[in-house]
Amino acid sequence: MVSDFKPIEHAQVQWQAGTPVAPEFDDGYFSHGQGPAESQAVFIHGNRLPERFAALPEHGLFVIGETGFGTGLNMLLTARLFTETAPKSARLHVVSVEKYPLKPADLNTALSQWPELAAWSRTLLSQYPPAVPGFHRIRLAERIDLTLMLGEAESMWRQHPGGIDAWFLDGFAPDRNPDMWNVDVFKRLAEKSRPGATLASFTVAGHVRRGLQAAGFSLERKPGFGHKRHRLEGVWPGPHSAQMFHRGTALVAGAGLAGATTARALAERGWQVTVIERKAIASGASGNRAGVVYTTPSAHATAQNRYYQSSYLHALRFLHRHEIEHLGIGRLNGVIQHLSDAHLQKKLPLAMDRGYWPESILKRLDHERVELTGGGYLQPALWCRHLLDHPSIEVRNGDVLDWAEHGLKLMDGQVLQADHTVACVSGHARAFTGLEWLPLKMIRGQVSYCAATGQSTNWSQAECHRGYLTPAIDGLHCIGATFNLHEHDPGANPADDRTNLNQLKRNLPERWDQLGGDAIAVTGRRVGFRCQSSDYLPLAGAMIDADGQEHAGHWLNLAHGSRGITGTPLCAEWIADRISGLPVSVDNEMQRALEPKRFIERQQRRRKQKKSGASRN
Ligand code: SAM
Repeated sequence: MVSDFKPIEHAQVQWQAGTPVAPEFDDGYFSHGQGPAESQAVFIHGNRLPERFAALPEHGLFVIGETGFGTGLNMLLTARLFTETAPKSARLHVVSVEKYPLKPADLNTALSQWPELAAWSRTLLSQYPPAVPGFHRIRLAERIDLTLMLGEAESMWRQHPGGIDAWFLDGFAPDRNPDMWNVDVFKRLAEKSRPGATLASFTVAGHVRRGLQAAGFSLERKPGFGHKRHRLEGVWPGPHSAQMFHRGTALVAGAGLAGATTARALAERGWQVTVIERKAIASGASGNRAGVVYTTPSAHATAQNRYYQSSYLHALRFLHRHEIEHLGIGRLNGVIQHLSDAHLQKKLPLAMDRGYWPESILKRLDHERVELTGGGYLQPALWCRHLLDHPSIEVRNGDVLDWAEHGLKLMDGQVLQADHTVACVSGHARAFTGLEWLPLKMIRGQVSYCAATGQSTNWSQAECHRGYLTPAIDGLHCIGATFNLHEHDPGANPADDRTNLNQLKRNLPERWDQLGGDAIAVTGRRVGFRCQSSDYLPLAGAMIDADGQEHAGHWLNLAHGSRGITGTPLCAEWIADRISGLPVSVDNEMQRALEPKRFIERQQRRRKQKKSGASRN
């Protein structure tokens, strides 16, 4: 099967007096010297956005779809208009597709000619994704999100669940760019439109009009902008009604990385959240002294590999937004990955050569090392505490026993109720009614802490081999970690320290030596149990029982294995968006790979196959 997610190449633009031009399409990104005025006339007024934004109800949601993100000018002007005209409680979401993203430097040059948009441009530039296919979530303002889909228009829109109120069709001249203006794309636009959705475009080309009409849009030609005679307005049939997003009360069981990110994502969307934790914040596997923000690059674009990459990139944006360096929670100054075995020596260079991991995020240092340039390390417990420190989040001590009909039952008999409940309790979820079937393993891991030496104090970057080594935090390095499926002892033991040190000695002998070699002083250790699913992906989505029954209002976010720091921000965002009825930042294929129901569906398929095999015999 051909993947919808092919490697991405940056646009090679030429500059004509301040206007970027794409030579292969012989067309500019906007009208020379008149970009903002043209955007306003064609796209913003063409969709009657000033009136529609002003008429939004409290907690209304407006979703714009765009074909051709380019410089982001349309989107930034729209975001500015929204903050000026929409009710303060309303939200805007823009979904835009781009096959050839501008290089960051070109984007900066283009945007810097509009000083009136400087603050918006800075926000966009600071989160602008690398040239990596798929969905990238960018927060433009507290109430304004952008999902930038890098890839071919038709494939990316196929991967999006839809729900669009207004379209900006802006993809270079149709006669020179048939990939953007064809029947398949028009069908997708129709499929993703809400009743009464509008569209606007600069082009009235005959085949575009015929195609859009055949897909079901009603069209009107309007007087064009500047030297253009006409522009296009259109509408999808049906009465338009405002979308509303949901708010209310939520319970989150568990205050580890999954619970803290989920609670925060819900609180940022207006939910009143109560987090129930049996021990202390980040007391389980999330509580090591330090953890590394990294992932394993792959040369393949399966949903699983894309999840590892896109959750990593999302985590980096999220950590930057929370200014973790400024808060002293960690550093994002790159992670050195040592190619410590034949598997890594083959896998990582291939990932770069195939184009899925561009040089801006994965740099070859020499034959033995690469650098994940945006990665880093952080103190998970401080990070969880920071996330939970929000006026709409209350953390309560309690031992969760099970679901209740609308909430949770605690060991002491209390029943807590809320509109939605998210279980972020790793493998303990198997004790909940209906979840005995969860295919989870608990993998014991011990990290060893050792004292910094004169030579190690100044190490600044985390280093990964088969294990990992972090720079000193309060005078201690973390050396991790053992990986033991068959041991269940929660107590730490010196044998595992030896395993960690031997692994370090084997893979990073110089570092081992600088830490003191055979005299390394292990001053502490910690055991955690990582919860991993049988297909190595988290379970993030609606709760489902073994009979395939989904239970409204109950959700899961667990099984992040040893990738909790990296994976939880994206899963939290995905669950919070779904609970809130907001557009999601995860493509359709990746959604299926994260939903707990994938296991039940696999079982059902296997049973069917067995049955049909038996009846043939
Ligand atoms: N809306 C943009 C703005 O506000 O700056 C200008 C868009 S520019 C005229 C057209 C954009 O469509 C270019 O960035 C181009 O790379 C993109 N594009 C062209 N063909 C595409 C395709 N088949 N799929 C996705 N994007 C495409």
